[in-house]
Amino acid sequence: MKQRAEPAAGVLYVVGTPIGHLGDLSPRARALLIDVDTVACEDTRHSGQLLSRIGSTARRCSFHQHNTRTRIPQLLMELHDGRSVAVISDAGLPGISDPGQELVAAARFSGCEVMSIPGPCAATTALVSSGLPTDRFCFEGFLPVRGRERRDRLALIANEQRTSVIYEAPHRLCQLLEELIAHCGEERPLQVARELTKRHEQQVGPTIGAAWSHFNEHSPQGECTVVLGGAEPVKFNELSDSQCCEQLLELTREGMSAKDAAKVLSNRIGRSKRELYALLHTVTEHAD
Ligand code: SAM
Repeated sequence: MKQRAEPAAGVLYVVGTPIGHLGDLSPRARALLIDVDTVACEDTRHSGQLLSRIGSTARRCSFHQHNTRTRIPQLLMELHDGRSVAVISDAGLPGISDPGQELVAAARFSGCEVMSIPGPCAATTALVSSGLPTDRFCFEGFLPVRGRERRDRLALIANEQRTSVIYEAPHRLCQLLEELIAHCGEERPLQVARELTKRHEQQVGPTIGAAWSHFNEHSPQGECTVVLGGAEPVKFNELSDSQCCEQLLELTREGMSAKDAAKVLSNRIGRSKRELYALLHTVTEHAD
């Protein structure tokens, strides 16, 4: 089938760029970034290096989390005037823990065509090289930095039966591993993918405890993606009412509401949310 010429007038292109190795920029992405009218870059100086290297003289404009409100209408106007626009982030796929999603939503809402030029993404690259199950997985991105929101998210991740993929800054990696030990135990399978596609690419695992020991001796540097194995499914008929109560109370002690605790345990063991909520209600009532 003959492909339509690119870039086409009035189309927003979401373009994947390398997460390290420059050879990972696809020929299609390269040609598009040379021929497009405007490239919206998360950081024009950072992406300027890539664009200059490939000989792109397209107009560049900054597009980041602090200027979306003014920039989106300007970019939409360009699209409606028949210009072509590419959006790129500092690395990887725009929209994945990077700016892009809001612009895509606005473009679709205003009737503009959006096309993706796929490329590397740290989450899927780390996942497929981890050796952990890839048939079902959850992308968590960056966790909330602190407080109850973080504790709640960690509790949900600990009970998740699918493989979880988490982005983390290197200076916070050891703290995250400690929290994961507290929630999941040292033996839960885990792989840290560090500096993917770069000279010092490294995989550290195979458990949370092993990764923690390693990074306590070798301070983590560079970019890291954490791939955590899922929780073992627990059959609900293997848990007595008092064991369910213990787990529910544990979840509420971690700061979860009774409703959320019942939901989390219900997902974990397959027993009805309503029954668990009632069970928790009975014990807390008797405790009063
Ligand atoms: N949009 C990007 C993508 O598609 O991969 C992700 C951007 S997010 C702001 C940056 C995070 O991605 C880093 O903190 C790290 O967790 C992960 N990351 C990016 N490049 C990586 C690499 N080369 N190796 C491991 N993790 C990486």
